[in-house]
Amino acid sequence: MSIPIADRVREIPRSGIRDFFEVVQSMGDVISLGIGEPDFVTPWHIREAAIYALEKGRTGYTSNLGLPRLRATISDYVNENFAVRYEPENEILVSVGVSEAIDIALRALLNPGDEVIYHEPCYVSYAPSIALAGGVARAITTRAEDRFILRAVDVEGAITSRTKALMLNFPTNPTGATMPPDELEKIAALCVKHNLVVLSDEIYSELTYDGLSHPSLAALPGMKERTVLLHGVSKAFAMTGWRIGFACAPPELIDAMMKIHQYAILCAPIMSQEAAIEALSHGRPAMEKMRSAYEMRRNYIVSGLHALGLDGFKPQGAFYVFPKITKTGLTSREFSHRLLLEKKVAVVPGTAFGPSGEGHVRCSYATGLEQIKIAVTRIGEFCEEIAADGSAAAA
Ligand code: PLP
Repeated sequence: MSIPIADRVREIPRSGIRDFFEVVQSMGDVISLGIGEPDFVTPWHIREAAIYALEKGRTGYTSNLGLPRLRATISDYVNENFAVRYEPENEILVSVGVSEAIDIALRALLNPGDEVIYHEPCYVSYAPSIALAGGVARAITTRAEDRFILRAVDVEGAITSRTKALMLNFPTNPTGATMPPDELEKIAALCVKHNLVVLSDEIYSELTYDGLSHPSLAALPGMKERTVLLHGVSKAFAMTGWRIGFACAPPELIDAMMKIHQYAILCAPIMSQEAAIEALSHGRPAMEKMRSAYEMRRNYIVSGLHALGLDGFKPQGAFYVFPKITKTGLTSREFSHRLLLEKKVAVVPGTAFGPSGEGHVRCSYATGLEQIKIAVTRIGEFCEEIAADGSAAAA
């Protein structure tokens, strides 16, 4: 029998990253600049909090919204770091990673045909999540020449009578772009003018460099009442496997999201929630060490790639660099596949992050400096060999 898969699911492509990494895993002995996850293990004091919770027998369900103590901790953390206060009782929902929060926020908001504007290149899940929620994804292309900034004028140009929401992600995966405060203010004013809800994915907000601080959209005038602030512990605290994210939003939206969450998920795992309390209350020193290691690696990889003539702007956030590879004459996919096969270095084709990623590859520097050094050397050899092949063919 052929199983009648729903059209909306059949039409969605599989993640380009996952497919690529199945190839990487089958090869072994590869230096990976591919995966978007910290190479650090979760700091010990955070792991210990979860172990302690297990020892105390804390193994049951929690409130659907998440442990009250975790919600109170999130409220304080967000107030301290984002300068906006949310009520633990009805404005915060603990989710299974930011991934789940994105999904349930979209499902809670969208009627069939509602449009959501987002900037591209972007995290792989945005367009599929919008489509799965019945919405229509409207991408705005951002460019390396403009430091991948989302311009308010482009947002305004993309708004139609069906636009319901805007999705933002700064610092951005895969470009490492950050948002200048004045442009963010213009976008906020547009959202107020056109009555848009904003899903603001700020999962990399702690990971900024060059002394830059992260302005949260939710803190701008008129924004708290229309913003879903999405954040979690996966990236900054090296806790991808714990699966804890959270959404801060107006009570009626949290209530709607909670209805989906309680039937689909019930609650995030209790021991992970205990670990997240520890991370958000006492994790800053360990997080700061990881952040400064990323900054050092960013400096190395950016100057290494520039020296090879692979241009790109210098990212100031997250742990990705998104160099242009057009001078090699290869497409992003060809570049990534050949680099993997010929030099055993894994990078992700830019097109995994939308069609506007063509001409780029994503290199993650959440990998040890020694590995990064070898990878840059190998990328250099690869580019030289491609150039030599090109000149031989031309001769
Ligand atoms: N949002 C962005 C921009 C990401 O890059 C990722 C993971 O790579 C996620 C969300 C998913 O995060 P989580 O592990 O909290 O589900």
